[in-house]
Amino acid sequence: FSSSRIRNFSIIAHIDHGKSTLADRLLESTATVASRDMTNQLLDNMDLERERGITIKLQAARVLYRSREDNEMYVLNLIDTPGHVDFSYEVSRSLAACEGALLVVDASQGIEAQTLANVYLALENSLEIIPILNKIDLPAADPDRVTEEIKDTIGLDCSNIVRASAKSGIGIDDILESIVKYVPPPKPDTGGPFRALIFDSLYDPYRGVIVFMRVMDGAVKRGDPIRFLNSRAEHDVVEVGIMNPNQVPVDCLRAGEVGYLCASIRDVLDARVGDTIVLSSEYKAAAKLLDPDSKEEPITPLPGYQVAVPMVFCGIFPVDADQYENLRDALGKMRLNDAAITYEPETSGAMGFGFRCGFLGLLHMDVVRERLEREYDLDLIVTAPTVVYKVEKGEGEKKTVEIVDTPSKMPEIMRDMKVFEPYVKVEILTPSEYNGQVIELGQERRGILIDIKYLTPTRSTIVYEIPLAEVITDFFDQLKSRTKGYASMEYQLIEYRPGNLVRLDVKINYEDAPPLATIVHVDAAQTVGRRLVESLKELIPRQMFKVPIQACIGVKVIASAVISPMMKDVLAKCYGGDISRKKKLLKKQAKGKKRMKLMGKVNVPQEAFMAVIKLD
Ligand code: GDP
Ligand code: MG
Repeated sequence: FSSSRIRNFSIIAHIDHGKSTLADRLLESTATVASRDMTNQLLDNMDLERERGITIKLQAARVLYRSREDNEMYVLNLIDTPGHVDFSYEVSRSLAACEGALLVVDASQGIEAQTLANVYLALENSLEIIPILNKIDLPAADPDRVTEEIKDTIGLDCSNIVRASAKSGIGIDDILESIVKYVPPPKPDTGGPFRALIFDSLYDPYRGVIVFMRVMDGAVKRGDPIRFLNSRAEHDVVEVGIMNPNQVPVDCLRAGEVGYLCASIRDVLDARVGDTIVLSSEYKAAAKLLDPDSKEEPITPLPGYQVAVPMVFCGIFPVDADQYENLRDALGKMRLNDAAITYEPETSGAMGFGFRCGFLGLLHMDVVRERLEREYDLDLIVTAPTVVYKVEKGEGEKKTVEIVDTPSKMPEIMRDMKVFEPYVKVEILTPSEYNGQVIELGQERRGILIDIKYLTPTRSTIVYEIPLAEVITDFFDQLKSRTKGYASMEYQLIEYRPGNLVRLDVKINYEDAPPLATIVHVDAAQTVGRRLVESLKELIPRQMFKVPIQACIGVKVIASAVISPMMKDVLAKCYGGDISRKKKLLKKQAKGKKRMKLMGKVNVPQEAFMAVIKLD
């Protein structure tokens, strides 16, 4: 196929607006996948994704389509993007691999925060955006209003907007026609050296890392030695191919095409998303032409490479110390597929052996934890997520900067010490009647109000700068509950700023409980301390003895509560009762014990470790 017959596109949408359903429908209607092989949401291939309705890893599919207009065959490459902010870097790279994007908006909902965030990413990558109104089959659909909204807020030309229902198959042909007509074909081959952009990778235990890429210039085939410009890794290509959506080997991939390659790569760090692949031979030839002292890359890397930096950290410990090795293996295997996870051993007197793990965001953390438990059958205790702080000590020449990703390791406040914390820009979309509630929440969370805009007479966007630490608690839940579920939000890291922060320690039965320590703003310390001890009092089961719980700053106790001792044996209430009931009760207890850690003499359940992010 000549590049004039290729169309590379993505689908962007707010979560639940129908991206996966539409992708399925496009594959089905072009008979890429026989109907009987069709499982719902083919592109979301992990169970977890399907259950949570989120797309985590990018996948691509190639579709052949005969245009009604000119009766010619076209190759349409669909690149699916992850549907969550935590993965916005991956979204931006897959958009960089395309010339156009279908913007799917639920006609019963309208524009949401992710719609906007994705549109910004698409515009940054100069994509042609084709608006699609989905779910027009719903009685609540209001296509006219939503069309106006798209016109007014994004400024898109909506004269060719497609009204569709991915569910009932309305408008699918029109969408395919629009792709051919409006998505520009890839730029013709420049004749320059081979360059390809990695937009995803996957680890296969037999073939090593499978790299998904868009060829920008030149061509690559089996046997070629290749080089990854940023990681500097070199490998020999074992196979190149296309996704239909299963991997099908081909002889060669050329400029404009989307495909995969395998090269016996054992580590995903060699081939990270955003890196540029070149041919070793062309690289060496170009290097010879450069001045030997030149720092310049012989072949210019494709723009936009960035290493994803973990923003949220937590401790992960096996409930049962025997599972430590299994946990290590499992984390190793997960990391093979996901270069954005970091982990290193962490040992604590209270928790035993475990790992300090870093993630892109809360959802990423949740997904990894759940996969560890499900796919590797591990029982885990996970400590509350925390951001990464920077602690500056000393002045001028003697200045040192320490990175703190574990609250209990935050040094005691000294006079010449400054603590910095990450701030994010949060963009919230809400029906305007809830503006007051949203602003109240923003103020409670140390937010700085940056902007309020009316998108339409009834919908607003509110922009805040807020410490990330305040966002990774229950911010999103609070936002949803205060706006009756109508608000949506997006955030992105902006910078580190100094904060008046202190370490809040927890003592259970007079013993330090470092995994429960947290870092709070001085002004909130008292309140957080009080709520935390109250919440722990509820969450930690009664013992045979009295258990005092204290929140302290340094040696000063700022709040305390007491768990009164259990009066009676649990089985006492079964006296005279039948044995099966007794057994049931014991079983229930045993199950409850599963996710507990003995701290001193007290069993602390999983929920208690998360208490600090759910204070009300
Ligand atoms: P994604 O999060 O954007 O990938 O959204 P999904 O494709 O997973 O769809 C979210 C929900 O909306 C699912 O329950 C779909 O069945 C439903 N859905 C998707 N498209 C349509 C449509 O055109 N009409 C109706 N009524 N429901 C739809
Ligand atoms: Mg989806």
